[in-house]
Amino acid sequence: MKKQPLIVVAGGGGFIGGHLVADLLRRGHTQIRSVDIKPLGEWYQVFPQIENIVADLKDKDACLAACRGAGEIYNLAADMGGMGFIEQNKALCMLSVLINTHLLMAALESGVERFFFASSACVYNADKQRAADVEPLKEADAYPALAEDGYGWEKLFSERMCRHFYEDFGLITRVARFHNVYGPHGTWEGGREKAPAAVCRKVLEALATGQHEIELWGDGRQTRSFMYIDDCIAGIDKIMHSDIDEPINLGSSELVSINELVDLVEAIGGAKLRRTYNLSAPKGVNGRNSDNTKIRGYLGWEPSTPLAEGMRKTFAWIRGEYQAKYGVQAGAA
Ligand code: NAD
Repeated sequence: MKKQPLIVVAGGGGFIGGHLVADLLRRGHTQIRSVDIKPLGEWYQVFPQIENIVADLKDKDACLAACRGAGEIYNLAADMGGMGFIEQNKALCMLSVLINTHLLMAALESGVERFFFASSACVYNADKQRAADVEPLKEADAYPALAEDGYGWEKLFSERMCRHFYEDFGLITRVARFHNVYGPHGTWEGGREKAPAAVCRKVLEALATGQHEIELWGDGRQTRSFMYIDDCIAGIDKIMHSDIDEPINLGSSELVSINELVDLVEAIGGAKLRRTYNLSAPKGVNGRNSDNTKIRGYLGWEPSTPLAEGMRKTFAWIRGEYQAKYGVQAGAA
């Protein structure tokens, strides 16, 4: 029987990394090394049966140690968050370039077979995202480049680094451009959370305090698509083990406005809140959706979990966390 390769999940203490490790274990992998800069107590999911390492992967020696003996590397490590974080921490976001650069160098030195990089829809040209009724973004829309300042430019640069490590050195690299991922076991408060989790928390706060109000960032008419975590994890595996040697969208194409997202969460939580709009808060581009023509063509597959179904599961998990942390009931069980 062929020996299973050692799989390294960089950023395994994070939202997507934690789910990826859980999925690898479910699928029978036992040789897994999960690496994250956060103290173990802050990881969203910890699996004691695998190798868990706390290390700063901006450091090349840490990357060499992380990649030793590995067959596959999944780079999900980045200093990131929702719009509130990335608009105010551009330098920190760009420093993640050190993680991907040193991981690629270490992967090459360690003879790794495949390398996955988590890119983002933030690489897309801002001029293509000015209208709320946006044309879905095709992969070619990343160029000419006008990426999200800071975070998006780092992703675009790192995508190209992956491409050139493949072309020049033969390291097989796979790149997916994630569009807004949401689900249980992720950030839901503290400033790094993204819209789906933030809306769940705000609805829960309103229910818990009896102050039936919610503040939204922007005018609520900006549009997005949101991909449920299970689709993201399935897509990562499919792309990693495909022959797709160009960056590809991994996102849902179910477009909603932020107002519609709030309608949905209100319905799930059994609330009707008075909305105020903070027009000076960071809100990102006006519209963004994923064109899935390419992924359907390559894989005959695309993310398909309905937003309502994914948000019900996400809301239930955040409600549990909220109640455990604040000791208050918020909404019907
Ligand atoms: P996350 O913040 O939950 O996970 C990232 C993890 O990387 C964190 O646990 C963090 O501690 C770790 N990390 C940061 N700096 C590190 C370092 N120097 N060394 C080691 N670990 C470090 O975020 P996530 O949502 O799980 O995102 C995973 C990847 O997917 C990231 O690259 C992110 O940019 C990308 N992405 C996510 C989304 C999304 O909607 N969640 C969208 C587009 C792209």
